[in-house]
Amino acid sequence: RLVEIETFSMDEESSEVTLRPDAWSEYIGQEQIKKNLGVFIEASKKRQEALDHVLFYGPPGLGKTTLALIIANEMNTNIKVTAAPMIEKSGDLAAILTNLEEGDILFIDEIHRLSPAVEEILYSSMEDYRIDIIIGSGPAAQTVKIDLPRFTLIGATTRAGMLSNPLRDRFGMSFRMNFYSSEELAKIIVQASNKLDKEIVKEASHEIAKRSRGTPRIALRLLRRVRDFAEVADELHIDHKRTQYALDELGINSHGFDEMDIRLLNLLVAANGRAMGLSTIAAALSEDEGTVEDVLEPYLIANGYLERTAKGRRATRATYDILNMEYVNADGT
Ligand code: ATP
Repeated sequence: RLVEIETFSMDEESSEVTLRPDAWSEYIGQEQIKKNLGVFIEASKKRQEALDHVLFYGPPGLGKTTLALIIANEMNTNIKVTAAPMIEKSGDLAAILTNLEEGDILFIDEIHRLSPAVEEILYSSMEDYRIDIIIGSGPAAQTVKIDLPRFTLIGATTRAGMLSNPLRDRFGMSFRMNFYSSEELAKIIVQASNKLDKEIVKEASHEIAKRSRGTPRIALRLLRRVRDFAEVADELHIDHKRTQYALDELGINSHGFDEMDIRLLNLLVAANGRAMGLSTIAAALSEDEGTVEDVLEPYLIANGYLERTAKGRRATRATYDILNMEYVNADGT
């Protein structure tokens, strides 16, 4: 089985590839998704057909890429991994598609970022397994039809709402990824620490889990940092005390908020109960609006610290409580 990985960035995440589960048994949580996918995979294997196109959406780091790799493993097919920003022109996509083999999986991350021209080719190829390429220009231009093998497209996006309707409609299945519970994250941490050959005590795994924003990628990053502290201190295991110390040193608070969350919540609380617009928030945090909406807000909303109203974003009573501030109503009282 050939796995072509084209776009994993060369930062710390690339070393996480070794911690990636490659079987269902190692993929913790997202039970409903696993159950449904399991049925569809089995059915298409029985029929000896390519799996229908799949869309995963939800905040970053929840395991979309990992799921795509597991599907390829289960289907026993090749998978080609790429991301929308790498596919600039229709020709780039045509080259990728014509190089696929029967049953192959094409994984496109950040699929909402495809240009309209590329997107159009993609959805015709998803439906008809055929693309029309225009060669030449002006009156001499010719359309050449190229047949494609039956392939499976797996798309991943943080913003399902930004996909055009024709593209979204061509996915036979779409799954929303959920944040992980502390118990699930603790299991992921224990599993990863075994792979890293550094045992972690149960309380310590829960301590990291609680502070990971419901996100495996963050949990694994924190695990690596805590392991560094334990190694420098020449400790055989990762214990609870060292973990608490390391997390405090890293400035991770016990609600799982990071520095950016705290800045956002402080900003909302300082508005004296008034709702704040997305663009104002983004400007105040020097972040782009997409990051605020896709990365920062979902966790805070899911845990009841931020609410979206018609007028904008507001902090909830829970936020005032954890920041030790007195609650202010929408009318400023
Ligand atoms: P992005 O869309 O930002 O690329 P993603 O949702 O595709 O993020 P992954 O790269 O698949 O996220 O996952 C991040 C890391 O978390 C991976 O290294 C993987 O090892 C781990 N991970 C994710 N989900 C799980 C899970 N359910 N069980 C065990 N490990 C997981």
